[in-house]
Amino acid sequence: MTVDDALALILRKAVPLDEIENLDLPRALGRVLAQPQISTLNVPPADNSAMDGDALASGNIATDGETRLRVSRRIAAGQTSQPLIPGTAARIFTGAPIPLGADCVVMQEHCRVEDDTVIISPPLHAGQNIRARGEDVKSGVTIIDAGIKLRPQDLGLAASIGLARLPVYRPLRVAIFCTGDELTAPGTDLMPGKIYNANRYTLTGLLQALHCEVIDFGIVPDNLAATRTVLAAAAQQSDLIITSGGVSVGDEDHVKAAVATLGQIDMWRIAMKPGKPLAFGSVGTTPFFGLPGNPVSVFATFCLFARPFILRRQGMVQTLPQSVLVHADFDWLQSGNRREYLRARLHTGADGVTRAVIYPNQSSAALTSVSWAHGLICIAEGTTVQRGQMVSFIPFNELLA
Ligand code: AMP
Ligand code: MG
Repeated sequence: MTVDDALALILRKAVPLDEIENLDLPRALGRVLAQPQISTLNVPPADNSAMDGDALASGNIATDGETRLRVSRRIAAGQTSQPLIPGTAARIFTGAPIPLGADCVVMQEHCRVEDDTVIISPPLHAGQNIRARGEDVKSGVTIIDAGIKLRPQDLGLAASIGLARLPVYRPLRVAIFCTGDELTAPGTDLMPGKIYNANRYTLTGLLQALHCEVIDFGIVPDNLAATRTVLAAAAQQSDLIITSGGVSVGDEDHVKAAVATLGQIDMWRIAMKPGKPLAFGSVGTTPFFGLPGNPVSVFATFCLFARPFILRRQGMVQTLPQSVLVHADFDWLQSGNRREYLRARLHTGADGVTRAVIYPNQSSAALTSVSWAHGLICIAEGTTVQRGQMVSFIPFNELLA
């Protein structure tokens, strides 16, 4: 199965949660907006000055030579203003309301002041240095669409129309466990034949980066009964189950059989590297991802399949990462029938061109490659790459932010 076909099948099963909570703006950061936000007011609410200077009527200014106007008033930000006395100017400050009768502001750097008189030279035009009412936001428009992950600037924009809270989807509860009799928790001694459990931390971190609530069921031994017991408990408590390991076809791989007895499961051999075996199904009604055990494959299959599924369930509209084209600073001469995701770094040369280099060890067991990299280079099935060619790069900050 191709990556694209698998992803299409997975996304078809991704139903957004229907539980919504109203959060104070600071707590809504990073959460997904559940309803579009429509402004009931104009921003700014009134015409105001973009500069410190003098507000006046442009019609009073001679088109050649200097004009002298008496300064009849002073208007600071936060004050309300009376109409301008005809034939005079008002000293005005940034953010202060434009008085009725004035139609422009002359910057203080562009005029001279003598006692209570301001001396102004052309050119000048109506509207100059005035921020018009509703210029930023007009009453009745949608300022933030539903389905986007709220960033600091979105919270600022919501506040600018007076909102103190926003409706967001509740976090997805994701249960995880790692299968393998060889696994040992870091912080304890490593006995012969054992390895430390890396995937637990990769998975937990990936899920936290997506604002999920993680329910960790720890290490599960390679036997059917234990796997079934943990799966059943996980399904009760979560919106999604993600496991690592035990989905190959060896005698010690029990995840598929365990899920099959509690729900249903599809096993796919995905034409990708790293990755390949991926299980997708459900335990009862709780969706299930069985990721491979190799640490790099866990990372890659999570990012390519579990991440878009999670984002869609969280209510997000945009679920696929944005890739960019960069120059290859490497050769990739053996084409294969699987799509390759190479761990790569970017560097920008003195010529201003950004090029990608790849980690020398691209084994799916070498987690150093992922830790070293800035992102993944995607090489399509059946293609080779020569130095200087353009290649598609998915930055990790697209995947992890
Ligand atoms: P499996 O898919 O269970 O056959 O595992 C494939 C490879 O990944 C084996 O070499 C496992 O030892 C290794 N592996 C499985 N789970 C983990 C884990 N949680 N942390 C580090 N390596 C793992
Ligand atoms: Mg295993």
